[in-house]
Amino acid sequence: MSDAISSVEAFIVVIPRDVPYLGPLRSGEAINERGYFIRRGNRSVYPATDTSVLVKVTTASGAVGWGESYAIVAPGAVAEIVTDLLGPLCIGRDARDPVPLHEDLYDTMRVRGFVSGYFVDALAGLDIAVWDAAARLAGLPLCRMLGGLRHDSLPAYVSGLPKPTLAERVDLALEWAGRGYEAVKFAAAVADEGEETEMAALRRALGPGIRIACDMHWKYTALAATRLIDRMHAHDLWFAEAPVAPEDIEGQREVAAKARTSIAMGEEWRTAFEYRPRLIGRCMDVIQPEMAHTGVTEFMKISRMAEAFHCRIIPHASIGIGIFQAASLHASAPLQNCDGHEYQHSIFDRNLRFVDGDMACEGGRYRLPSGPGIGVAPSAEVWRYARQHEPA
Ligand code: MG
Repeated sequence: MSDAISSVEAFIVVIPRDVPYLGPLRSGEAINERGYFIRRGNRSVYPATDTSVLVKVTTASGAVGWGESYAIVAPGAVAEIVTDLLGPLCIGRDARDPVPLHEDLYDTMRVRGFVSGYFVDALAGLDIAVWDAAARLAGLPLCRMLGGLRHDSLPAYVSGLPKPTLAERVDLALEWAGRGYEAVKFAAAVADEGEETEMAALRRALGPGIRIACDMHWKYTALAATRLIDRMHAHDLWFAEAPVAPEDIEGQREVAAKARTSIAMGEEWRTAFEYRPRLIGRCMDVIQPEMAHTGVTEFMKISRMAEAFHCRIIPHASIGIGIFQAASLHASAPLQNCDGHEYQHSIFDRNLRFVDGDMACEGGRYRLPSGPGIGVAPSAEVWRYARQHEPA
């Protein structure tokens, strides 16, 4: 019995925003003609829109699966890899075999040095779509294909406080705490008065019962990061995220060895191969896999490997319409060490109308979308902002 993949399509979604992700632009920051700007706080490029690439897989029997790739800038690159390269290689392959298909597609480019980046982002969206189709063909929710249901809901921590001043960010954190959210994370890139001041102000306002994490946005040397984490530790820091540059494995190890606070990392890595040396080096005790970078296959491989190193798992939540988010909740649901999931309220809430299904985040928890597959699909509304990508 077989159900061959008969078509693979990619769609670029661009949804305008009034206020960019992480809040208003700071002095000296400007949006360019392509809709991108650089945050001076961490020297990284961000889109002024919510942009991602949707991937649709259809099988000979008519089953459909949906995926979503990380593609916040240059989405045409991801869509082109899907339509020009990966899609045609999938035609005729059985949609019920997502792991062998993922392994074979990764193999096609690995010795050429394409072991991460845009290539694996494209692969991630396709992999989510194939898993969605496979689970729908089996009549099962995706989590039951991945080991079974341990969490039918997950604690959501409020990420980013997109307001221009510290006083307003503190008020926003209080508002979320009042709605039942027990954890927040602030962002170094927009902590205008410094992380220590931000941490102290949040702790003073929120009291001892709310967990507070800091995303250090890869800004520091190992020594500077260690000292800053110590100062935030005095205010009961929950975890310090991304303290040093992504490539600095020795620095990551040094910070983790010296800090008295949990170190969280991983949103920028796409495969188990990128996690492996950091796990062996005990560079972090919390991993943050990003489904729109990893796809389901690598997300599970990374997470199971991290569990063997006694790490906790708190997945990252990227920019998109929420297809990747539904897959991430389903992949998190079987994991014993999963403590919760990032909640980008300024993206998730406004874009929830672009997916059909009962996925929700309310009262401090995400609800796993029910039904077969990932439990959601693009709504009719999204086609106002999406266009199909044709290969060049
Ligand atoms: Mg982060």
